[in-house]
Amino acid sequence: MVPSERRKTPRSLILENSVLDTFVALDLETTGLDPQRAEIIEIGAVKVEKGEIKAQFDQLVRPEGPLPPAITRLTGISEDMVRRSPPLSQVIPFFTDFIQEFPLVIHNAPFDLSFLQKHPEICLSQRVYDSLELARLVLPRLVNHKLQTLVRFFQIEQSLHRAANDAQAVALIFLRLMELLLETDLASIQRMLKIVQGTDSSLTELLAEVASVIAKQSVLTKIRSKSTDANYLTQLFNIGGHEAVEALPGGGERSQHLDLKSVLSVFDIDGPLQQQLKGYEKRQEQLDMVKAVAEAFNQGELLMVEAGTGVGKSLAYLVPAIYWAVQNNDRVIVSTNTKNLQEQLFYKDLPELSRILDIPFRSVLLKGRSNYICLNKWYTALSQIETAFSPEERRELLPLVIWVQETETGDIAENSGFKSKLLWNKLCAESNYCLGQKCKYYQKCFVMKVRREALRAHIVVVNHSLLFSDLCLENSILGSYQNLIFDEAHNIEKVAAQYLGRQLSIW
Ligand code: SF4
Repeated sequence: MVPSERRKTPRSLILENSVLDTFVALDLETTGLDPQRAEIIEIGAVKVEKGEIKAQFDQLVRPEGPLPPAITRLTGISEDMVRRSPPLSQVIPFFTDFIQEFPLVIHNAPFDLSFLQKHPEICLSQRVYDSLELARLVLPRLVNHKLQTLVRFFQIEQSLHRAANDAQAVALIFLRLMELLLETDLASIQRMLKIVQGTDSSLTELLAEVASVIAKQSVLTKIRSKSTDANYLTQLFNIGGHEAVEALPGGGERSQHLDLKSVLSVFDIDGPLQQQLKGYEKRQEQLDMVKAVAEAFNQGELLMVEAGTGVGKSLAYLVPAIYWAVQNNDRVIVSTNTKNLQEQLFYKDLPELSRILDIPFRSVLLKGRSNYICLNKWYTALSQIETAFSPEERRELLPLVIWVQETETGDIAENSGFKSKLLWNKLCAESNYCLGQKCKYYQKCFVMKVRREALRAHIVVVNHSLLFSDLCLENSILGSYQNLIFDEAHNIEKVAAQYLGRQLSIW
C-alpha cells in the first residue's frame, strides 16, 4: 500500500473505488399512493460523484387526471403549475438520459419503482439502493425512519415535499448512513452480509464493499458510538434512578412509618412539585389521595381509590410509594393494564420524581418475556440462516444485527427498524424454550438481567398480565413482595380470570 492510500478515510475509499463512485438519488411526487390509479407529477433527481452533488434534474409533469387538493396542500404544486408542464412521455427521454446506468438511491424504493415501472420506456437495469432499508438496519432505534425524521436526525437543512429537495435530502442521508455503516464493527457487517448473501438484495453488494473497506483499514480511527440523542431515539433504558441505592430482595421490615406531614409537603404550594414541575397545581383531591395511600402503607391495609380525571393519581401514589420503599428498604410493585400508562410512569413520572425528590431511589420496567430477544435463539438463527429463513425473512432480520450489539435492554420496543411480528415469535424469549442457567448466554441474557434488577429496585413497574402470570408461577418472576399498587384496576377482573380462572364448556 502506498502512503497516500494509507491516509484515505473509509468514506473516500468506498466513494472512489466502488459502485458508489457515482450514483443518482431520486424522488417522485405523485397524485396519490396507489400506483394503479395515481400519476407522477414531479421527478427530482441529483447526481452524486465522489460524495458531492454535481447535477440536478427537476421537472414537473402534467398528469392526465386531476390533481387532488390534498397533494397541492402537501407539496405546493398547483393544478395550474402542472397544466403548464409537459406530459410524462416528453419528460422520460431527458430523465433516462440523466440517470443513465448509474445506481439509484431511493427512499422507500418499492413505492417510487412501482410508478416508474408502469412505463416500459423507463428501463431500469441498474442497482437500486433503498435508503429506508439502510436506515432501518443502521439506525434501528430511531423513533421512525421517515425522510423528515432522518433529515432532523442528521441536521440536514432541507425543506421537503418537492421532488428535487427530497432527492437532495435522500442523497445526503444516504452518504451519512454509509459513514455510519463504515464505522460499524466488521463482525456486525459480516453478520449482515451472511444474512443477505444469496438473496437478490442490493445490500449484498454494498455490505461486501463496506466489509472489504473496513478490513483494509488496519486501525479505524473511529468506531461507531451509540447515539444518545433522546429526541430521536426510542427509549433505551429499563432501569431508572440511582445506581448506588437498592432495595432488598423480598423487602425489608415494616418498621419506619411514613411521616404524613413531610410526604404531603411535597405537594404544597412552594413545595418541590410546584417549584420544579411545569404546570403543577395543588389539588385537594390529590392531597386526600396521598394521605390515604400513605396511611395504607403505614397500617399495611388495603385501600381502594376512585380518582377522576385530573386528580393526578399517578403522583399521588408514586410519591408515598417511593418514600415508603426507600425508608424501609422495601419494594413496591406498580401494575398497569396498558402499555401507555406503563411507559408514562416509567419514562415520564418516575424520572421527573427522581429529579425532584430529595431521596435517591431505583426503578425498573419489567415486561413479559416475549418482549425481549433470546440470545440463544438469535445466535442459533444466525448459524442456520441459509436453511431456516426465506430470502425475504433474511432481509427482515437485518435491523436486528446492530441493535443486538447496542441494546442495553433487549426489549424489541426499542427497535423501530424491525417490523416482522411473525419472525419475532422465532426469536423472542419464551419459558418453554429457555435453558435457564444451562444456557451459555445466561449471564448476558436480557430477561435474566432485568429480573435481577427488579429484585433490587424500589419501584417495579409491570402490567397486569405479568403480575398474574407471576402469581401462577409462585412469584418466580417478581420474587416476594408486600406492597402492590394496581392502576387501571377496573381491568383486573378480566386479566385475573384469564390467569387464575377455569373455563367450562358444555361440549
Ligand atoms: S437464558 Fe433463556 S431466554 Fe436467556 S438467552 Fe438463554 S435460552 Fe434465551
